[in-house]
Amino acid sequence: VFAGLAQAPEDPILGVTVAYNKDPSPVKVNLGVGAYRTEEGKPLVLNVVRRAERMLINNPSSVKEYLPITGLAEFNKLSAKLIFGTDSPAIQENRVATVQCLSGTGSLRVGGEFLARHYHERTIYIPQPTWGNHPKVFTLAGLTVKSYRYYDPATRGLDFQGLLEDLSSAPSGAIVLLHACAHNPTGVDPTLDQWEQIRQLMRSKALLPFFDSAYQGFASGSLDKDAQSVRMFVADGGELLMAQSYAKNMGLYGERVGALSIVCGSADVAVRVESQLKLVIRPMYSNPPIHGASIVATILKDSAMFNEWTVELKGMADRIISMRQQLFDALKARETPGDWSHIIKQIGMFTFTGLNSDQVAFMRQEYHIYMTSDGRISMAGLSARTAPHLADAIHAAVTK
Ligand code: PMP
Repeated sequence: VFAGLAQAPEDPILGVTVAYNKDPSPVKVNLGVGAYRTEEGKPLVLNVVRRAERMLINNPSSVKEYLPITGLAEFNKLSAKLIFGTDSPAIQENRVATVQCLSGTGSLRVGGEFLARHYHERTIYIPQPTWGNHPKVFTLAGLTVKSYRYYDPATRGLDFQGLLEDLSSAPSGAIVLLHACAHNPTGVDPTLDQWEQIRQLMRSKALLPFFDSAYQGFASGSLDKDAQSVRMFVADGGELLMAQSYAKNMGLYGERVGALSIVCGSADVAVRVESQLKLVIRPMYSNPPIHGASIVATILKDSAMFNEWTVELKGMADRIISMRQQLFDALKARETPGDWSHIIKQIGMFTFTGLNSDQVAFMRQEYHIYMTSDGRISMAGLSARTAPHLADAIHAAVTK
């Protein structure tokens, strides 16, 4: 019955890895996928995660029962504290409804569907550009997706004027997706001063913030610093949605562990919001997986393990920052034409190189370097060994 089915295209991001895996070249480098790699190019399981897993395995009371629809209660509480801060007034006033979801993507999807069912304005504004999955997730959740200007290719920085203009002309009440830190794919974030202006504009127009936090601690190395934008919006007492992922910052990619928090106007509303979130989740996947959330809760609730995590997290962030410098220095040494300072100015996992799709194709063909066609490279996939090879490739691509 499916004989007439067309072949679906590869996912534009995950498809890069498919192509990379097929390439027999010994010098190939995969800068497509957003997953951390060590200097040796290997995936990393944090020591603190291994330790938490051993504790869980050896604990006779850990079982494989179903979690509630909303997930592990302890995990939810700790996750809200991690992003909003331990002294967050919204948490103290019980105004936050948090549910465990399937990593960042699942949190966005559940939040999107909740809004489509219960919020009066169905339009969500997403930055241009943004993570490629955002428009699909929100469209399938039942929202109408529009975009706001974000990135200025001329400066390789923020188009702040364009952003303010587009949010100013959005209809009152519209939902606005904001990357909490380390904007993907550009690595360009507003300054705190700009965040404050965005906050004032959004609150004055009753625009509803939907934060996507996939890189807390991964951008600057500090969990608190990377949550500053979000906390400004909580401190004003207003409402917002928050999708949190532990994929990058705890290296729990395949465990699919994340949380959706909805900061409400009162404790009473938060209870009703949670009850409705259950009705979104139950027919979608019934309840979330237990293992990843147990790892996170084990680490977050123990101060020694928490500290161990922050050290390992900073190690990852610092290695990425150092790769930015190494790549920048290598291009400078080659006198590659152009201003490459955006490589060290941008933050987080990715650099938006400014290379066009022809140059990207050339680098794949001639240098076996794999990245998404928009010229985004994962700095986490680079090492001291591969940075010179990448610099050679970029130099050849821009001078050919
Ligand atoms: N949002 C952004 C901005 C991301 O970059 C990612 C991961 N690439 C996600 C959400 C979701 O990731 P996950 O579902 O693996 O947590």
